[in-house]
Amino acid sequence: MPATSLEELPGVGPATAEKLRDAGYSDLMAIAVESPKVLAELAEIGENTAIKIIAAAKQAADVGGFETGDIILERRKNIRKLTTSSKALDELMGGGMESQSIIELYGEFGSGKTQICFQLAVNATRPLEDGGLDGEVFVIDTENTFRPERIVQMSLAHDLDPEEVLKKIHVARAFNSHHQMLLVEKAQELASDINVRLLIVDSLTAHFRAEYVGRGALAERQQSLNKHMHDLLRFGDLNNAVVAVTNQVSAKPDAFFGDPTRPIGGHIVGHAATYRVYLRKSKGGKRIARLVDSPSLPEAEAVISVSEDGIRD
Ligand code: ADP
Ligand code: MG
Repeated sequence: MPATSLEELPGVGPATAEKLRDAGYSDLMAIAVESPKVLAELAEIGENTAIKIIAAAKQAADVGGFETGDIILERRKNIRKLTTSSKALDELMGGGMESQSIIELYGEFGSGKTQICFQLAVNATRPLEDGGLDGEVFVIDTENTFRPERIVQMSLAHDLDPEEVLKKIHVARAFNSHHQMLLVEKAQELASDINVRLLIVDSLTAHFRAEYVGRGALAERQQSLNKHMHDLLRFGDLNNAVVAVTNQVSAKPDAFFGDPTRPIGGHIVGHAATYRVYLRKSKGGKRIARLVDSPSLPEAEAVISVSEDGIRD
């Protein structure tokens, strides 16, 4: 097993770990990219020890690597599309929600973000021929809005056994942003035993927004969000899963992103999300979904409805 904390690196005891942290090396990546000379000086260790520590950190830190195009093509052949139960929304998304990508659903309170997540959760358990992913679902619930009762209603509407569906939906409450990020790691561990095809984070940004308050905290917040997004994207790639995340628009101007129709997290979230869907309420309980940012599809809109049965045209 590669090391996951400083103390697990060879030659690093508690005292050295503390020195490293004091010198600003709190994660393995920071050590992996440092030069032995600088590390030795700052952590007051021998240069040979520093070389060993850096080598181990390089192995442990996920530096990533290069892949040839044929392997990427092979992986993309496995991409599946998950139906939303709305033809119009499926079409807007190029046939459904795409695996190996992050779909960001953003909009004001009550715009239908959580309802779409419920529908996707139900549908992910359905067979491929029904637009499903024949798999299981992880939900990271940060606002305590997961409602099994809604899963039951939406399952019955598609003639599914609600109990069977509920057994395939694994829900974890995240109590703060740090916990939320750890749960993605946990999900990746569990994925070796569970055929997970959909990961939901509802809401992606609520904790971050509540915890990192004020201008001074912004850089730190964005850095954490950036790491979180990359962890999520990686999860989607490794498991050929759809990653659906929800995001609010700031009702009152954010400290930095002053526009009230802007999603929280600004460019960091926007760039990492593969698809951004802006939801807004319309007349008669209808919702308008607008595809805002996509690598290969035009900007367009779809009208959907939210009913007891779930998401429909
Ligand atoms: P948010 O975007 O804040 O996550 P939701 O996705 O929870 O909002 O949407 C809430 C809305 O979904 C409600 O205002 C209502 O219009 C609709 N809704 C929720 N439950 C039902 C239901 N059982 N039957 C019909 N509509 C529902
Ligand atoms: Mg919600």
